[in-house]
Amino acid sequence: MDALVIGGGITGAGIALDMASRGLRVCLIDKQDFAGGTSSRSTKLIHGGLRYLKQLEFGLVKEVGRERNIVYKNAPHLVTPEYMLLPIIEKGSLSKLLASIALYIYERLAGVKPAESRRMLSKSETETQEPLLDKEILKGGALYFEYRTDDARLVIEVLKTANSYGALCINYASATDFIYENNIVKGVLIKDHLNNKEHTIKAKYCINAAGPWVDELREKDHSLKGKRLHHTKGVHLVVPHSRLPIKQSVYFDSPDGRMIFAIPRAGTTYIGTTDTEYKGPLENPLVSKQDVDYLLNAVNKLFPTVNLVTADINSSWAGLRPLIHQDGKSPSELSRKDEIFIAPSGLISIAGGKLTGYRMMAKRITDLVMKQLVKDEKIAFKECITHTTSISGGEFSLAHSLEDFIEQMTLNAKTIGANKAQVVALVSKYGSHTDTIIKKAITYFSEGISAEKSIILAEIKYAIKYEMVITLSDFLIRRTGRLFFERETLAESVPIVLEEMAGILKWSDSEKQKNRDDFQVEFLKVVEFR
Ligand code: FAD
Repeated sequence: MDALVIGGGITGAGIALDMASRGLRVCLIDKQDFAGGTSSRSTKLIHGGLRYLKQLEFGLVKEVGRERNIVYKNAPHLVTPEYMLLPIIEKGSLSKLLASIALYIYERLAGVKPAESRRMLSKSETETQEPLLDKEILKGGALYFEYRTDDARLVIEVLKTANSYGALCINYASATDFIYENNIVKGVLIKDHLNNKEHTIKAKYCINAAGPWVDELREKDHSLKGKRLHHTKGVHLVVPHSRLPIKQSVYFDSPDGRMIFAIPRAGTTYIGTTDTEYKGPLENPLVSKQDVDYLLNAVNKLFPTVNLVTADINSSWAGLRPLIHQDGKSPSELSRKDEIFIAPSGLISIAGGKLTGYRMMAKRITDLVMKQLVKDEKIAFKECITHTTSISGGEFSLAHSLEDFIEQMTLNAKTIGANKAQVVALVSKYGSHTDTIIKKAITYFSEGISAEKSIILAEIKYAIKYEMVITLSDFLIRRTGRLFFERETLAESVPIVLEEMAGILKWSDSEKQKNRDDFQVEFLKVVEFR
């Protein structure tokens, strides 16, 4: 192998794609499912980071803002541009003038297209735009574009693209130790959690893209010196849209001066995020009662007729930001910039950054490794091509646009009586692969299975064959997001999914039970707050 990447979140996935598409032999491992860490627990925005202007992070805003357009172009099925409303309120963090200046600078830096430029609103226009806002404190507002995504699906589609260039991607395999030759890291000892076997993988370069676990691996390499990670926790809550029926996404002031998103999605509205110090176990951070109170309080202050209570919460998630520590800075003040650490052993670690900026992070790492290979092995340097590489499922063109594809799929899906909304939901997960899923669903339907069930069976088949789904939770949490956005339907669908997966994957009774039990823990956890 030329390179071994540890970590199958967005950072590792991006690196595997960049390396493989430049002809390097690369293997990626993740100790959990792909996107099992922070990359399935973000705010799910591909964004330019308006709020980083406050910290004068102009370089970051410029880079992620421009990257946003590239992710949109390469993965249009996973990225939905939408207006975000920024209400301007009394004693809020932005006055009308400041909001207008901030958005102007943001749009220049981020290279925002003219068609997507901001619209400043009067008080009455803002009230019409969002009637639920507190009219007593409202002074006006602004509309600007943010891009919604599905973080875990972005990871899996980037990995599938990497795989199409030859990258070997393995989930449920931990890097347990490094292998050295003359004190230089030349591989990794791996534990395969599916069969408890150990293996070694040798590689010229090892990349530590382990997100919140980056320092654990640096520690193993005895190179944890100087800069360290600073973990902060971010929580999101999901409520039925009918309980917070906002007309579009809103980015608003919380009483402590931080900014919070409320984002409608698939019959729900999700609210987040918090940003608090975190010292607990890195696996599965929990949502506390305090997190819930903080977010509900912020919503109830700005939307005074809504009166959200804990019992309204349908689902939730908590993620850890792998930020770089800076003395004296509070969680929200810590930079979101990525940094690369090169250890004396040659271990290359990368941490910090944003989902949105994954491609440039990957480019920096791949350039570094490529330059070294050019020096050591006299190979020709290959330039990065990922700015023009379609992400799996995103292969649309002007001649055959995403919209045309949706129309075509809607026609095909009529055979099973599925409507356009169901097709759009599939396309926003699987993009052009929806064709494979609908074809399979038609086969199931012709065997007398209902339309709804045919679609879910086809998704399972696809997820096992093409997306390395191993457990019930992989399918229901990371490949389809059902635990977050369709939890109320799970009582009906879980037995179907369990039976089908057990049949395809030939689970024994105890394996089936374990899958059921493990998912049940996740199912309860998202509405239990301590
Ligand atoms: P992870 O996704 O955590 O991936 C690391 C992987 O390494 C894990 O899957 C883990 O299992 C694996 N691993 C660890 N140790 C080992 C080992 N020993 N062997 C094998 N594998 C190992 N960014 C945006 O652009 N937009 C947003 O809206 C946004 N919102 C956010 C909201 C919150 C609450 C948080 C916490 C972050 C948000 N971010 C956002 C930032 C973004 O989510 C992260 O920067 C990004 O997901 C980090 O990805 P990663 O691959 O570095 O880490």
